[in-house]
Amino acid sequence: MTTTYLWNPPPVRSLPVRGKAERLPINRIFCVGRNYHAHAVEMGRPVDKSVEVPFYFTKSPDTLVESGATVAYPPGTRNYHYEMELVLVVGKPGFRVAEADAGAVIYGYACGLDMTRRDLQLVARDKGRPWDLGKDIEQGSVVSEVVPMPGQVITKGALELRVNGVMKQQSNVDKLIWSIPELIADLSTYYHLQPGDLIFTGTPEGVGPVVAGERVEGSVEGVGTIALNVGPAE
Ligand code: MN
Repeated sequence: MTTTYLWNPPPVRSLPVRGKAERLPINRIFCVGRNYHAHAVEMGRPVDKSVEVPFYFTKSPDTLVESGATVAYPPGTRNYHYEMELVLVVGKPGFRVAEADAGAVIYGYACGLDMTRRDLQLVARDKGRPWDLGKDIEQGSVVSEVVPMPGQVITKGALELRVNGVMKQQSNVDKLIWSIPELIADLSTYYHLQPGDLIFTGTPEGVGPVVAGERVEGSVEGVGTIALNVGPAE
């Protein structure tokens, strides 16, 4: 018997893949917090890797928006921030993956913008509340085309972000506090990683606000570029 629904189910969220006609369906969006020392310091929360473990938050797959889009300045904030990040794309299931085996679950990489209501995130952080209103923002997870790099562990590459052509973030993936194998090993102790899971690996220093009319452009060396146009509030 064919299942029928009261209304149309939500669409499958997906991304274009370089060199392929097929699109990559998205499962979950994981984000790593404070994974570059200079950003952790600018947020007033330095990281001591010897006594800390990575932490994560999630964004709904339906917050996904493709690079090049124009999105309305979101409601509920006066301090909407960009965070330029390398995004890891999972292509194989993985649970309790050893660091040495982490490459086996990697499909490829993309550029990402983890857009953030900074004002609400900091209130939540300081009051011990969930980060959802600060992070899980409609059209707030911007991702470029996916570049297939199966099995490849990225260890370095310049990462940059400009707003209206002015450099705001400039770092290198070699400055990640927790490396890609360490993140896959750690996150897979909590979740059964699945094909289509995205892992935003964290942003370096230089985060800041955007306003309506501005264009954000970013890049990760060896992966690609990403852009976002901020439109007027609804
Ligand atoms: Mn982030």
